[in-house]
Amino acid sequence: MQLRIPGPTPIPPEILNVLSRQMINHRGPQFAELIQGMTAILKELFQTKGDVFILTGSGTGGMEAAIVNMLSPGDKVLVVSNGFFGERFADIAEGFGAQVDRLRFEWGSPVDPEAVRQALARDPGVRAVLVTHNETSTGVTNDLGSIGAVVKEFEKLLLVDAISSLGAIDLPTDAWGCDVVVTASQKGWMVPPGLAMVSVSEKAWQAQAKARMPKYYWDFAKAKKFLEEKGQTPWTPCLSVFFALAAALELFQREGLPNVVARHVRVGNKTRQAAKALGLSLFPEDSCASNTVTAVRAPEGLDVKKLLAILREEHNVVLSGGQQMLEGKIFRIGHLGYVSESDIDEVMAALRVALPQAGFAGGGK
Ligand SMILES: *Cc1c(COP(=O)(O)O)cnc(C)c1O
Repeated sequence: MQLRIPGPTPIPPEILNVLSRQMINHRGPQFAELIQGMTAILKELFQTKGDVFILTGSGTGGMEAAIVNMLSPGDKVLVVSNGFFGERFADIAEGFGAQVDRLRFEWGSPVDPEAVRQALARDPGVRAVLVTHNETSTGVTNDLGSIGAVVKEFEKLLLVDAISSLGAIDLPTDAWGCDVVVTASQKGWMVPPGLAMVSVSEKAWQAQAKARMPKYYWDFAKAKKFLEEKGQTPWTPCLSVFFALAAALELFQREGLPNVVARHVRVGNKTRQAAKALGLSLFPEDSCASNTVTAVRAPEGLDVKKLLAILREEHNVVLSGGQQMLEGKIFRIGHLGYVSESDIDEVMAALRVALPQAGFAGGGK
């Protein structure tokens, strides 16, 4: 089967094997060794000298953790949003009582760092900027380096949803001034859902000490204390996914982060070129198109639901539709994690057959 959705992603055989491993004591020396080794490698992959924690929960849990550890009710935050997940970040902050200013960009367009500068200049009371690095709903990668530089000019906290970018798209956490970065196991990391990984900068710790939003399970201070003093997590971790992630981190080390990133660039380019060769056009501009997920604009006459059903039932290829206002308007091909160019060849071969059956007369060669 070709599971080509932007998470959960396929799992390589070496990692699948590990998932049948017997449980261990999460308060014993074996786990301490495991989590300490994993944390050290994650720091390299996050490109940070700050702290990294492995939390049991999905990516959204990590987003909530970032917010409740950094902010107090009533704090002003600027949420830079150009899609479904940007809106989720804003909704969580609002849910916990932040005063949220949504700086919105059209879905399919990238965030304009200059507009972020203007918004911060207008409102000196903003404490934190929340941004999505890779907007999975629209297939857009935002220019986080430039956004980070602007946020630093104003000395605000920068919280980043890097759930579908980290481990696939380059994200130098420290160099780009990111204070909290969140990712999740089922995206670029090639393991099952269940873990969120977060980095915490020095400056973020100062904010953490003062943040008054309610929290218990997600408390970074507890995570730090347990990790440093005992080599543990405060609560029972989902051990099987820890085992899987440990195996995945070995694969990352073997391939090397620059090669992992380069592979995603190649696969992303190939996906975009092949889609265009079928006569399709992409939802975002090429200049901001993501190397982990490609959003294809549904051409006139195409029934997206029917297309996805034909691909799934007759070709064993699973793609995603559009979310919310993009339902029926786009479909998405996930190409993150365990993916190579030949996987994309298979997807395109199936699309070539299925597109005309689902109402797209073509234009492809
Ligand atoms: C998948 C995803 C999420 C949600 O993560 P869950 O693990 O489903 O909670 C949030 N943001 C982005 C950018 C994502 O791709």
